[in-house]
Amino acid sequence: MSSARAGRLNRVQSRMEELGVDVLLLSLGADLPWLTGYEAMPLERLTMLVVPRGGTATLVVPRLEAPRVDEDADVFRVRPWSEGDDPVQIVAALAGLGGAAEEVAVSDRTWAAFVLALQATMPAAYWRPSSQITGPLRAVKDEEEIDALAAASAAADRVAAQLLGGLIPLIGRTEREVSQDIGRRLIAEGHQKVNFAIVGSGPNSASPHHEPGGRRIEAGEPVVCDFGGTMDGYCSDITRTVWTGEPTVEQRKMYMVLQEAQMEGVASAEVGVTCEAVDGAARRVIADAGYGDAFIHRTGHGIGLEEHEDPYIVEGNLVPLEPGHAFSVEPGIYLAGRFGARIEDIVIASSDGPVALNDVSHDLTVVEV
Ligand code: ZN
Ligand code: ZN
Ligand code: ZN
Repeated sequence: MSSARAGRLNRVQSRMEELGVDVLLLSLGADLPWLTGYEAMPLERLTMLVVPRGGTATLVVPRLEAPRVDEDADVFRVRPWSEGDDPVQIVAALAGLGGAAEEVAVSDRTWAAFVLALQATMPAAYWRPSSQITGPLRAVKDEEEIDALAAASAAADRVAAQLLGGLIPLIGRTEREVSQDIGRRLIAEGHQKVNFAIVGSGPNSASPHHEPGGRRIEAGEPVVCDFGGTMDGYCSDITRTVWTGEPTVEQRKMYMVLQEAQMEGVASAEVGVTCEAVDGAARRVIADAGYGDAFIHRTGHGIGLEEHEDPYIVEGNLVPLEPGHAFSVEPGIYLAGRFGARIEDIVIASSDGPVALNDVSHDLTVVEV
């Protein structure tokens, strides 16, 4: 892993050079563990990696957290600070703030209190979010990362297969009960953490990010289940919609359109095709069938250390797909107050064409349990 991280540091520093950024400051968020293997605690005590444009980085970390850090001489050394020290001044000195550094990038998720204190040390500098540097780099997964994503997707697939196989009781249970059941199964299949388990039944299936609540699932309705977790650092995310009884003719027609849209979206995801065009490929099928106004979100998002990251599969994103890009393709059709459905798989762009990491069936599935 050390050599992978050294390679990442090199790519970060080349991009800093390209963009004219003098120093990169990483605190909360996934950029720091991506580069160092260490995740900062969300505390009032400052943890910050100071990355210069050349040479190794320095991790400024509270002394009491330092034992949890694995120093990696090729990438960074540790600079612990003690109670009574001013960590902002330590970072400022290492970063050359107030002196040489004029262009600074800082983690998107750094607490405002620290950003404001750092800015006060260099009122003339230009600041930008670190994602401008790290976003496009983190979006391209190496082999080890693709393996980790595939393992997480396979674990989520096993839970989805249980859902389609009728092993997760639905009828008569509340959405919340089913959500908790799915969460327990994600853990049982190898995830360390459940990130979400959306269960939207009946009319709630028309609300894409429905918060599973006290509604009891009835026979003969659609149930949208969208769930994922984190396994060995990397995220899973899958959606399947099942029916607790025969769907109506209208529901069947809508679902067939959705199936085709999802398939077209995945099939379009060739290297060199823009993210916008992948969104368009899925959206066109839905619009042509007359459901254009009912597809109310983007087609997908990148996935990796975070559930949602670059590249976003959305109109206006002209970034062309590269081998190693990992993202969801998840069109949905939502008829407000009535019913809806979504199908989601994680896909990797490769020179051999798009590779779906999820392989649980998309067929309309009735589970009368
Ligand atoms: Zn979502
Ligand atoms: Zn999802
Ligand atoms: Zn998703």
